[in-house]
Amino acid sequence: MQIYIHIPFCARKCNYCDFLSGPADAQVQEMYVNALMHEIRGRSSSVGRNEKITSIYFGGGTPSILSAKQLGDIYATVTQEYSVADDAEITIEVNPKSADRDKLHFLRGMGFNRLSIGMQSTHQSELEMLGRIHTYDDFLECFINARDAGIKNINVDIMTAIPGQTEQMLEATLNKVIDLDPEHISTYSLSIEHGTPFYEQFGDIEGPVVGEETERKLYWLTVDMLKAKGYRHYEISNFAKPGFESRHNTGYWRRNRYLGMGLGASSYLPGAGGFERCRNTTSLETYLQNPMTREESSVLTRQEMIEEAMYLGLRLMDGVDTQAFENEFGVSVRSIYADVIDDLAAQGLVYEGASSLSLTDLGLDYGNHVFAKFLK
Ligand code: SF4
Repeated sequence: MQIYIHIPFCARKCNYCDFLSGPADAQVQEMYVNALMHEIRGRSSSVGRNEKITSIYFGGGTPSILSAKQLGDIYATVTQEYSVADDAEITIEVNPKSADRDKLHFLRGMGFNRLSIGMQSTHQSELEMLGRIHTYDDFLECFINARDAGIKNINVDIMTAIPGQTEQMLEATLNKVIDLDPEHISTYSLSIEHGTPFYEQFGDIEGPVVGEETERKLYWLTVDMLKAKGYRHYEISNFAKPGFESRHNTGYWRRNRYLGMGLGASSYLPGAGGFERCRNTTSLETYLQNPMTREESSVLTRQEMIEEAMYLGLRLMDGVDTQAFENEFGVSVRSIYADVIDDLAAQGLVYEGASSLSLTDLGLDYGNHVFAKFLK
């Protein structure tokens, strides 16, 4: 079982971001922390004390915007109420501007053993365009402080397909990050989302602002450079030194159970009628009044579970574990999808191994097209 904790606050909204996050004053943040701890206690009875928590992930928003004490109180509530495994992966997302030396030392002391730093680019012009509040030097200081605090598992987020980004610019960003030797690197292609300043600026664009061809060039430049430096390309957008693949995210792609707490947090849990996906209220006002409020809850049909197993599994370079699929559903992948697989394999988009089905390199360029074939 995994736990996700959502902290929906940021110092300022980035120009591209449509996540459930935004600025809030100190009083609202304190009220939120109290509501969140109420929810953490309230949901603990639904998880057996024998159920080991293998990963905890503080995401957002910007979790590091909270004070060390607030983060410590939330974390302590989780460890008091749930049975956290001794070797659990405990991650917190941080913004370089709100994770100073003292806070990082405190977090490491509390038990956080993995840091995910939102950097996006080493170029000031790109950081400004994205509306990030930090500089590259802020990131560098944060990274060095994290190492000094004893954090041995660090992820760095990099954004690609930024308007105006050239291969040379991305190469320079990647080289600077590689030189720091983080254990994990996540790269995401910029897309324009409704309701963001970028949507106002660039309009209703289908696909990347830089164009499909450039976006793919930048993607493969990233893959080639990181693989050459010993990073395993283990998911479409994620790279890790061997053994440092994100346990939390891999659990999500492998459809492990997780309990999400906080504003708008989703959960995937076994219920009386089968596996349920539920989502907490996305209204901050409602959450502060009653943090146990669910906005959505539905029991997944067998067909929905099969489809999820396919499109989430295909995101991983190891692909769908077809034996595990058969063990879970009692039928083989082939017995359901033979025509689809044969068709995609003939186009060179998927590879069928002895006990796996995965995207080929060409398939990576047409991921959404491939996933859609496994949906009814
Ligand atoms: S810091 Fe992250 S969550 Fe906050 S606005 Fe920027 S991208 Fe969105």
